Amino acid sequence: PDPMLRPEPMETDGEDRALRPQMLSDFVGQAEARANLRVFIESARMRGKAMDHTLFHGPPGLGKTTLAQIMARELGVNFKMTSGPVLARAGDLAAILTNLEARDVLFIDEIHRMNPAVEEVLYPAMEDFELDLVIGEGPAARTVRIELQPFTLVGATTRLGLLTTPLRDRFGIPTRLQFYTIDELDLIVTRGARLMGIPSEPAGTREIAKRARGTPRIAGRLLRRVIDFALVEGDGRLTREIADSALTRLGVDHIGLDSADRRYLTLMAEHYGGGPVGVETLSAALSESRDAIEEVIEPFLMQQGLVSRTPRGRMLARLGWRHLGLDAPRMQDS
Ligand code: ADP
Repeated sequence: PDPMLRPEPMETDGEDRALRPQMLSDFVGQAEARANLRVFIESARMRGKAMDHTLFHGPPGLGKTTLAQIMARELGVNFKMTSGPVLARAGDLAAILTNLEARDVLFIDEIHRMNPAVEEVLYPAMEDFELDLVIGEGPAARTVRIELQPFTLVGATTRLGLLTTPLRDRFGIPTRLQFYTIDELDLIVTRGARLMGIPSEPAGTREIAKRARGTPRIAGRLLRRVIDFALVEGDGRLTREIADSALTRLGVDHIGLDSADRRYLTLMAEHYGGGPVGVETLSAALSESRDAIEEVIEPFLMQQGLVSRTPRGRMLARLGWRHLGLDAPRMQDS
């Protein structure tokens, strides 16, 4: 499938940095998370203390990194960013922690992929703002305790279930991000078109919003591609016709599914009679990693009610059959 249609980050995403909301007030959607964060940020400011450690979890592209940056900006502190897989050794994390200034935000993306030895260093750092470093080896080894500035750790993960319990328990503010509604995505697309100086008709932005898989990152990318078609093949205006023809050519169907999603649904229907099927079987048959299936493909299909998860495996729901233009076999209880 076209990587442009997947919610994971890409090199070219840098182009839309200008579209990133800068403050909580221009962040659209996630109303509950936003309302809570506003209170916690305000309270930390009033108390002059570091805000509590915050964990964002949910599918890729929903705004975890953006919210972490907004937190730092609203708190008036520095923003430092790293990721679980990048922190290979305990010393890598220690170097970052000892360089933090008071109340800074340290963002660790993909925090579920941190090396256990690195994670050990994080516990006392999060809890007591202390670092225990082992210096030397063998009988000469000794531990040195280093005091850290109080800081706020913001972790992000697409897989809450893969976080160890001790790590999870150290986040005072766990926050789940949800897929965006079409109305919310429409606001994001409309704002994006305005920032890019493209006149748009409401039915045009709405068409993109409907087909963005509930995900702002995808909405932003689709918008840029539709604008290309509007400029080259249209009159430079984002209309519904241009959006529809561009998205169809990109392989995005009318509810936003791409070819990987449709292969998944088709396989379930045609080879497994709608299931139940285990995720390993699907992974082998689709040549997709299990992670990609569980983190990217399934959350949206389940949220849309096309697929359900049962103790015996995945099942194609009635809506899934209907989306493929097929009849569900009788006796199916979904
Ligand atoms: P994540 O860290 O969850 O993968 P990001 O924070 O990197 O997601 O967001 C992905 C893209 O979507 C960014 O380009 C960001 O500007 C955009 N985006 C995310 N949330 C919003 C939002 N609520 N409003 C507008 N744009 C958003």
